[in-house]
Amino acid sequence: MANAKAWEILNAGGTALDAAEQGVMVTEADPEVHTVGIGSYPDRDGIVTLDACIMAPNGDCGSVAAVQDILHPVSVARMVMERTPHVMIVGQGAKNFALSQGMKETELLTDWGREQLAAWKTRNPDYRPKINVENHDTIGLLTLDKNGDLAGACTTSGASFKYHGRVGDSPLIGSGLYVDNEIGGATATGWGEAVIRACGCFLVVEFMRQGHSPTDACRLAVERVISKNPDWKDNQCGFIAMNRHRETG
Ligand code: ASP
Repeated sequence: MANAKAWEILNAGGTALDAAEQGVMVTEADPEVHTVGIGSYPDRDGIVTLDACIMAPNGDCGSVAAVQDILHPVSVARMVMERTPHVMIVGQGAKNFALSQGMKETELLTDWGREQLAAWKTRNPDYRPKINVENHDTIGLLTLDKNGDLAGACTTSGASFKYHGRVGDSPLIGSGLYVDNEIGGATATGWGEAVIRACGCFLVVEFMRQGHSPTDACRLAVERVISKNPDWKDNQCGFIAMNRHRETG
């Protein structure tokens, strides 16, 4: 669905930046996706907090983290990029900024999310999450437009039942997303703490800069994540990448 929206924009001659933002907005607005936007898993305090970032072909970037009650954190990230001198605004400040820009408050916690938290509390009083396919995910989208310009966006609710205020890799430029218009872009999913320790997406782009294919760059970055995380067997992470020649990995 996100890809379809992004293609619609690109095929109509739209920019990579618009395609990246509007593509992931589809997923943010889907209550059936429980790891991005509305309908996500809450944190351990029963609050849905969202992280997102966006990067433009000219190297500009914007980011929000731990933002509450806002349906489209990726759009707030874009507003941070385009309307403020900053790169990143977090927590209540991000929400206040979003409201000041005309966004409306939205209840992001659904009955499904409340039920998941209640069930988790009965089975997992010690918080040491084994990351697995059910309890986390992220959408990251890399786009290349007709002008040959690259952009990317990344948005998530992070790890389910995380500590309130926890921020993962996804809104961190260089960890969850990195785009260099001269080289290519990369975005990540998985256990954010592991990706942060390796500066994952910056690393993927740097490997491409050294001449590696997108696939090899992703593999080398995963190997770095493994080397920086002794508990790697308990973790999942993955990268996607695209270079400016349209090769993907
Ligand atoms: N990377 C996200 C985080 O740690 C979660 C995920 O992609 O699965 O917040």
